Amino acid sequence: MTISRHTCLICNAEDNHPTFVVREMMFGTRETFEYFLCNECDCLQIADIPSDLSKFYPTTYYSFNTQSSPPRDESAIRKFLERLRVGNALFGRGFKFAKLASYLVNFPPQLKSIGPWLIKCHIQSFNARILDVGCGSSSWWLNDLKTLGFHNLLGADPYIECDVKSGGISILKTDIQNISDKFDLVTLHHSFEHIPNQAETLRAIRSILKPDGFCLIRIPLLSSMVWEKYGTDWVELDAPRHLYLHSLKSIKLLAKKESLELVDFFCDSTEFEFWGSEQYRRDISLMAEESFAINPSKSNFTYREMAEFKKNAEEANNVDQGGRACFFLQAR
Ligand SMILES: [Zn+2]
Repeated sequence: MTISRHTCLICNAEDNHPTFVVREMMFGTRETFEYFLCNECDCLQIADIPSDLSKFYPTTYYSFNTQSSPPRDESAIRKFLERLRVGNALFGRGFKFAKLASYLVNFPPQLKSIGPWLIKCHIQSFNARILDVGCGSSSWWLNDLKTLGFHNLLGADPYIECDVKSGGISILKTDIQNISDKFDLVTLHHSFEHIPNQAETLRAIRSILKPDGFCLIRIPLLSSMVWEKYGTDWVELDAPRHLYLHSLKSIKLLAKKESLELVDFFCDSTEFEFWGSEQYRRDISLMAEESFAINPSKSNFTYREMAEFKKNAEEANNVDQGGRACFFLQAR
């Protein structure tokens, strides 16, 4: 670690900040990039944003991030019964009919994974208007929302080839600054850390939120056990694609400046944080043949080690020090 003079793009502190050299390790080019840790707000950020970021996003990057398939085409009666149950679980309405439906259908599995976020964002009906920012050409989140019964859904990503319809959901090739509708909820699932203009982006989001609307941001969290343990081998640094690794302090500060209040947060780190970082420490890239992500059977991790990584992640989450977090920001 050395010290050099930089201006923080989050809090504007111009100072001699500690700097770190971070390698590109997803694809394993091992090209190095300088990051600095702001003395004031504790945000770790890339010292020079590359002029052409697109070259760091080959096609394989997007396929690696695909997390779900489009919604299934189910019978109308099944959808109706599921919606009675989901509506009761999320909005507290229609208990009697939901009880009857419970004898006929199960909850869709998506309810367990995304339901808690919707409740924290005070979503009150299936008519809620929801925008997903930076979702690529297919959004697992919007697909899951559609499966649950939501229908006012839109995606936006400036880097896709053209406007697309994925699973019946429109995804526009556009910057958020060009969107003028109003939304109950705007989400950024691991896209915010890739965006150069952090304050401008939050300002644009604030301007399209309905009164008391929510912005859910899911990003890596620097204030974490995994950063403390692995430092520049932390898998979430993902140089140079992750431009900002926020601390709790820096995200709060940034949100407040744009009239968004941090009303809740929790950590949702997984074992990936630990095995991925352990691989980088052993000089194994994420896409390498022997990477657990590519060939679990060729990786050197024992079953016991993997169980330990899972336990590490759970323990970190329990004390709000996981390497990934969900921030619930409300328009004020
Ligand atoms: Zn700062």
